[in-house]
Amino acid sequence: MPRLLILLLLCLLSFATHAGDGHARAPATILISIDGFRADYLDRGITPNLSRLAANGARGKLRPSFPTKTFPNHYAMVTGKRPDNHGIVGNNMIDPRRPGEKFSLGDPKQSLDPFWWDEAEPAWVTAGKAGVRSATMFWPGSEVAIGAARPADWLRYDRHIGYAQRIDTILDWMRRPAAIRPAFVTLYFEAVDDAGHRFGPGSAEVNAAITDVDSRIGALVAGLADLGQPARLLIVADHGMRATDESRVIQLADLIDLASIVAVEVGPYAAIEPAAGTDDRVAQALLKPHDHMTCHRREDLPARLHYGRNPRVAAIICIAEPGWSIFAGDPPWPVTGGAHGYDNSDPEMLALFIAHNGGLTGDVGTVDNIEVYPLLMRLIGVAPLASDATGVFVAKLP
Ligand code: AMP
Ligand code: ZN
Ligand code: ZN
Repeated sequence: MPRLLILLLLCLLSFATHAGDGHARAPATILISIDGFRADYLDRGITPNLSRLAANGARGKLRPSFPTKTFPNHYAMVTGKRPDNHGIVGNNMIDPRRPGEKFSLGDPKQSLDPFWWDEAEPAWVTAGKAGVRSATMFWPGSEVAIGAARPADWLRYDRHIGYAQRIDTILDWMRRPAAIRPAFVTLYFEAVDDAGHRFGPGSAEVNAAITDVDSRIGALVAGLADLGQPARLLIVADHGMRATDESRVIQLADLIDLASIVAVEVGPYAAIEPAAGTDDRVAQALLKPHDHMTCHRREDLPARLHYGRNPRVAAIICIAEPGWSIFAGDPPWPVTGGAHGYDNSDPEMLALFIAHNGGLTGDVGTVDNIEVYPLLMRLIGVAPLASDATGVFVAKLP
């Protein structure tokens, strides 16, 4: 008899959980970032799942914002603003209002401080205000209380959380009763970027990472289908990748006394603050013409880069010729492999774009990545905030 009672209770519980699902599930919008997935990787013939989604939906190339780095571009896609306007002007940056401190993506004390992120409002915050529930399986900024708000569900970034677990977490979110099921979900993969840095964009290791991520996305799509959960997928990357090696290095020590500068960022571009009192000497040495590198005062950067008005941009920005690297002393990482951060007009910095089920079809060409924002907001049904985007994706919707 107690066993029968338990059975009855279980039946009632299951009915109650599914009662809200009596009608068809509302579609979810899933924004997937494959870090460092260069646009042309999709043509390597090793991505059956991504290629199928692209063929049944839309594909294109995203032009990243300068600098073509991870944090500035992830934040651009969820705010519609370029780095000058959203405030995350680099993976590494300093702010004159916070002397002695440095933001760095690997330093949680700084990277989780809302101070750095508050210049813009990301999609999940605006969605939350509109009553649309978000859940993030990683996205730069999603762990931060921006304007005191975070996604309804979020996780602290941890590269050791495996891809199967990331997919299962999302599928678990979608198994929830309608009232607490997210309408907007993000998902992030770092493996393609990792392999690109270590082994270069043409390597077998990059291909293996691409194949792995492709199969994970296949598993996600299959899992959603099993649940009967309709989904609109936006699959993006933050930037591409370019081969680098030790024979193409510009050493700032050959041009200036390193004690006279603070190098906030080095590599494909260098962000340089002259130490107090040395501004003119540093500027004279750097601003003259160099082989394989061009330096500008931040106020004189080419207008097409839309970069230099935010006080977090360092006084002098040197941009290496694609494939070259700028260092101030010993390189902080092995130079041979791949890198990104170059001028965003470099075709090898262009990034993946696939939209599936959202209304876009065909080849949409090359589009600035800030345009992802209005499209995303349209898909989740929330009015976008003012941004730098012009709405070219939205204009293509039927
Ligand atoms: P990059 O130096 O521009 O190549 O940055 C890529 C790295 O950013 C990846 O290897 C990730 O480990 C890291 N990353 C991605 N998302 C986050 C996050 N939310 N918090 C901290 N680090 C992250
Ligand atoms: Zn990246
Ligand atoms: Zn990277």
